[in-house]
Amino acid sequence: MSEILSILPIPAFKDNYIWLIDTNEGYIVVDPGDAVPVMKAIGSSINKDLTILITHHHFDHTGGVETLKDKYRANVLGPKGSPFKAIDQALISGDAFNLYGLFIEIDHIPGHTLDHIYYLIHDDNKSHLFCGDTVFSGGCGRVFEGTFKQMHDSLNKISALPNDTFVYPTHEYTLSNLKFALQAEPNNKDLQDYENHCQKLREQGTPTLPTSIKQELLINPFLRTHSSDIHAVLKNIRGIETTASEDVFSGLREWKDSF
Ligand SMILES: [Zn+2]
Repeated sequence: MSEILSILPIPAFKDNYIWLIDTNEGYIVVDPGDAVPVMKAIGSSINKDLTILITHHHFDHTGGVETLKDKYRANVLGPKGSPFKAIDQALISGDAFNLYGLFIEIDHIPGHTLDHIYYLIHDDNKSHLFCGDTVFSGGCGRVFEGTFKQMHDSLNKISALPNDTFVYPTHEYTLSNLKFALQAEPNNKDLQDYENHCQKLREQGTPTLPTSIKQELLINPFLRTHSSDIHAVLKNIRGIETTASEDVFSGLREWKDSF
């Protein structure tokens, strides 16, 4: 396997990140909602290959694809059955392949949208999860097309990945997510410390991402449906008395939707 030279967040729109992975053999661009910042980042003529990975069909993840495809002759990979039609190679759960010396695994994680997939990219010594709008640091995506059960199952797949997996969500939502997380789990010391840390990063204009599975298991309420602190808060504030993971998830998601 070869090495990743760098993984950089390219800011786009108000709070999106388009992730740019540089390798010896080519560039990988994940979810380019806008072509212009990508072209600024890599230059108008490149001397290596470019591949685009799409996690789901939303416009802020796909709006720049056609332009980049034309300009750089990029190959576009994305979910099978996606409403987004510019995909050259359609992927399903269990697909695995090599790209630029990296090993990439695909899983279907519906909920935010029905077509949503993740890309788990392995280089020599690390694993990197590109999970679009399914997991954010301290939060998760809204359930637009799927059911709460689907989203809960998808989050379970992600939280079962190895602890040291780096996680690259597509939005800088961390601080607003942590406001909610602290309401849901006020006594979580890791969460309090993480909010202080992220506040400092944002004051310096630094992205809070990537995060890791280990970090999210400590602070993300949507991955902490086992927490007795969360159970007590849901009961007291929302009148929901349950310890069943899927019901706790639904209670949190509904609460966050109106937070
Ligand atoms: Zn989306």
